[in-house]
Parts: sequence; C-alpha cells; structure tokens
Amino acid sequence: MRQRKERRISCAFYIGRFQPYHLGHHTVLSSIAGEVDEIVIGIGSAQYSHEIKNPFTAGERVVMISRSLRDLDIDCYVIPIEDIQRNAVWVSHVMSMTPHFDLAYTNNPLVFRLFEDAGVPVKRSPMYRRDEYSGTAIREKMLTGEEWENLVPDAVVRVIEEIGGVARLREIARDDLG
Ligand code: ATP
Ligand code: MG
Repeated sequence: MRQRKERRISCAFYIGRFQPYHLGHHTVLSSIAGEVDEIVIGIGSAQYSHEIKNPFTAGERVVMISRSLRDLDIDCYVIPIEDIQRNAVWVSHVMSMTPHFDLAYTNNPLVFRLFEDAGVPVKRSPMYRRDEYSGTAIREKMLTGEEWENLVPDAVVRVIEEIGGVARLREIARDDLG
C-alpha cells in the first residue's frame, strides 16, 4: 500500500520595528516567501509611537505591512510585540504572542543569538541597498522634505498620507512651542 505523505506547512518568523516598513524589508520578505508556506511578522517596540525614532503606532504599522504583502502569494500574520527588558526570556515572550513558527530570519546579531540560544533554527537574511533602504534615512528625508516615497512600497506611501505621517513626524521633532 502506498503511504500518503502529509506535507507539513513551514512557517518563518521575521521581526523589525518597521518605522516605516520599507523596500529593504519588503525584498527580504519577498525572498522568504519563496522558501516557506507562511510568514509571521513581528512588529517590535510595538508600544512606541509619536517619537522621532518611532513615529507610527503598532496599528498603523500592521496596516502598512498587511497591505504591502497582499501582492505576495503567501499567508502572513502580522503581530505587534512590545519590548521586554529581559533578553534571556525574549524568545519565549515572542512565542507567547505569535502562531507557531519553525525558523527565524534576521540579520540582527542579538536576535540571531537569542533564537540560537533558545534552540530555534535561524537563518541570516541579506541586506539590500542599506544606505537608502533604512528607516532612519527615510525618517530623515521626511523631516528635510526630500523624496522618500520611492523607498517604500506604494501601500506604505498611501497609509502615511492617510494618517498625516510626515506632518506628525515634523511636529514631534519641533522644539517646545514658545
Ligand atoms: P531603523 O533605522 O529605524 O532602525 P531599519 O531600516 O534598521 O530602521 P528595522 O525595522 O529596525 O529597520 O529593522 C528590521 C530588520 O530589517 C532588521 O533586522 C534590519 O537589519 C533589517 N533591515 C533593515 N534594513 C534592511 C535592508 N535595507 N535590507 C534588508 N534588511 C534590512
Ligand atoms: Mg534598525
């Protein structure tokens, strides 16, 4: 009798702050999408918003990422994850908030090490055009009025326009009102 082989669904995890989600992140996820069946995307530092380094809320970042990933033919779960100041239990904290995943992708050395120490298979993801595809560089362009729209997916441009994201960033970057 022929044995029927059940094919297990493989699921990958990827985390960032996504302030905002940009084409570097999107290129990494597009490539991971070719290797697994599902992706869990963790939105790190989820509790922060309205700060120069963290202008967007977790909910706004969920929408940016979910809409951008619609054109990738893959099931994704986008999960906000608040920081905890305790690296030794950070992987358990992540897992308490996410669907099960089989492996993680990152190029952050600390995240790599924490997954490795927790016994989770982890692969290094490559960097793409890091000088331009960088949250810090994009926020700086928003502040100085340079073009940033070509560095993020179209869906992210639309979300940032809808929420008045650039005006928010400029406002929180101003000194106290005199
Ligand atoms: P910031 O400058 O605000 O820290 P960032 O561009 O580093 O933003 P994060 O959200 O901090 O983006 O990073 C999430 C993950 O994405 C990190 O592991 C980071 O190394 C990776 N990443 C960031 N930029 C790129 C890029 N251009 N190509 C591939 N991966 C990237
Ligand atoms: Mg970063």
